[in-house]
Amino acid sequence: MPCCRRGQYRKDGEACSGSLHFFLDLYGFDTVNFIDTHTHLYLPEFKDDRDEVVTSALENGILKMLLPNVDGKTINSMHALSDKYPEHCLPMIGLHPTSVDMEYPKEILKIRELLGKRKYWGIGETGIDLYWDKTFATQQEEAFREHINLAKEFTLPLIIHARNSFSELFRIMDRENDETLKGIFHAFTGDLVQARQIIDYGFKLGIGGILTFKNSELDTVVREIDLQHLVLETDAPYLSPVPMRGKRNEPSYLVNTANKLAEIHQVSLETIAKITSLNAATLFNIIL
Ligand SMILES: [Zn+2]
Repeated sequence: MPCCRRGQYRKDGEACSGSLHFFLDLYGFDTVNFIDTHTHLYLPEFKDDRDEVVTSALENGILKMLLPNVDGKTINSMHALSDKYPEHCLPMIGLHPTSVDMEYPKEILKIRELLGKRKYWGIGETGIDLYWDKTFATQQEEAFREHINLAKEFTLPLIIHARNSFSELFRIMDRENDETLKGIFHAFTGDLVQARQIIDYGFKLGIGGILTFKNSELDTVVREIDLQHLVLETDAPYLSPVPMRGKRNEPSYLVNTANKLAEIHQVSLETIAKITSLNAATLFNIIL
């Protein structure tokens, strides 16, 4: 729970301690800051209270929120949000795999055009989703390759969505990955072998609310992974962590996932904030 005004947290709910402030001094942060590396805060689910949700995120120390795009229909609302909060809401550009159809080349052209016009912090989200619908599986693979090329060309991190598709994604990554390509496998829920494969590619694992689910085995995988490979995310409005599971997710709930990660790795919440924020800041070239 928050224990003071600017989002400083302790697991036990006690007042901020000297050690917290020692940490802040040491690393030059003036509070415990988190980065939500994946939030769709521009979607209609937030149309009635978007400003309050942003304010709550900032009050809880979530100072940077990366916005992955969905498709051509979400670009304007994403731009509007990032124009309103340019220091905090950082847009990315891409076509979500569940929005890929025969028309995807037009969307890629539009993305390429936009990349020449304004600042984006990453390419995504892209990837392959064979859970809902396999109709456009081939096109999803082609679109994923196009996103890889854009990430390389514009030297931006790649945000990958994987659902029932690790073997397809890995097959493409084995061929296309190089030392210039960086990014995140977001909402990671794979096993240890898959986690190690992603780390071998030089990518980060995006850890969200699923980590807090009782029936998830993600904690046993994440326990084995060094914190340097992890970044935090909400995927708001989806995948709320416990105790908000099933409700609309929002960036301020990131702290619940961070607390769980602290418990799993038996370190302080401050350490989780420091390491995951530095991982994300380095990846996205964000100045903290
Ligand atoms: Zn997403």
